[in-house]
Amino acid sequence: MLAVVPPPVTVRVPSKINLHLSVGDLREDGFHDLTTVFHALSLTDEVTVAVAEEPGVEVYGEGEASVPTGANNLAWRAVQALAAHVGKPDPKVRVVLRKGIPVAGGMAGGSADAAGTLVALTALWKLDLGRDELAGIAAKLGSDVPFALYGGTALGTGRGEQLVPVLSRHTFHWVLAFDQRGLSTPRVYEELDRLREIGDPPRVGSHAPVVEALASGDPRQLALLLGNDLQAAAVSLRPGLRRTLRAGVNAGALAGTVSGSGPTCAFLCADAESALAVAAELAGAGVCRTVRVAHGPVPGARLTGGEELH
Ligand code: ATP
Repeated sequence: MLAVVPPPVTVRVPSKINLHLSVGDLREDGFHDLTTVFHALSLTDEVTVAVAEEPGVEVYGEGEASVPTGANNLAWRAVQALAAHVGKPDPKVRVVLRKGIPVAGGMAGGSADAAGTLVALTALWKLDLGRDELAGIAAKLGSDVPFALYGGTALGTGRGEQLVPVLSRHTFHWVLAFDQRGLSTPRVYEELDRLREIGDPPRVGSHAPVVEALASGDPRQLALLLGNDLQAAAVSLRPGLRRTLRAGVNAGALAGTVSGSGPTCAFLCADAESALAVAAELAGAGVCRTVRVAHGPVPGARLTGGEELH
C-alpha cells in the first residue's frame, strides 16, 4: 500500500525589535540578565517544511549567502529538538527559508526561523502540542525563540525567554534601516562589557513607563522612552550608525533606536503615511543598504493557511 505523503506546510514568522532593553552586569556564568520589551513586526520570514528523502535546509532571500545550511542553522536545530522531543529519530524533512529579516541584524531572524519550524513541523507531523509546550523547546534553542512563537508585545526577563504579554492599544509604524553588514551579537555584548569597565555608558531606566506608553497607544509618548543598553556598544563598533540614527530623525521620524544588538536601526513614525515619507527620504540619504517599512505588534509564528495549533 502507498503511504500518503502530507502536503508541505508554510508558516510566517515575525521579526522583533526591542522597545526597551536593559542589560544587567556580566554574570559569573558569562551571561547577562535582561529586562526587555519585545515588539513583533510585520517584517517576516517564511518557513516551509515538507517530507523529503533528502533532509536539509534551503535559504532564499535577504542575506541568503551568509546563512549556514547545515547543522548550525537554527531551523535545523529546531527540527532536531522537536524530533527528539517526540521520539522521531532521523527526521526526513526539508526546510525552505524565505528570508525577509536581515541576517545578523539584531531582529532575531534565526530565532524566528527556529520558532517557525517548530510550528510548521507540529502541523506537518500532526502533533498534539500547543504553543506553551513548544515554548519549552524554543527556550532551549535560544532566548529570542519563545517570543517569535507568541509575537505581539511582551516583557522578557531572564535571558529574554521568560515572557509576559504587554497590552498595546495601537498599531505603531516603523521604518527599518538595514546596514551593509551584520553585527555579531556576542561581539556586541563583549563591547558593552569593555565600555562598562573603562567608563559608564548610559543605562536605560525602568521598563514601566514604556509599558504605560504602550497602553496609552500614543506613539509620541513611546518615542520619548525607546532605550537600549546595547546601543552604545553597537555604535562603538559601527560608528556610522550615529549618522543613520540622525538621518532618520531628520527625515521626520519621532525617534530612532538600534534594534537589539544592531546594526539595524528602527525608527518610530507618527502614522503609516509618515513612515512611507521617512522611508523614501532615508533611502535617498545614503546612510544604509536598504530601507523597509513595517508595523507592529503582529502575531507570532502562524500557519499561512490560517489554521491554528491546539
Ligand atoms: P539576535 O537579534 O537574536 O541576536 P540577529 O538577528 O542579530 O540575532 P540572526 O539573523 O538570527 O542574527 O543570525 C545570527 C547568526 O546566526 C548569523 O550570522 C548566521 O550565521 C546564524 N544563523 C543560523 N541559522 C540562521 C537562520 N536560520 N537565519 C539567519 N541566521 C542564522
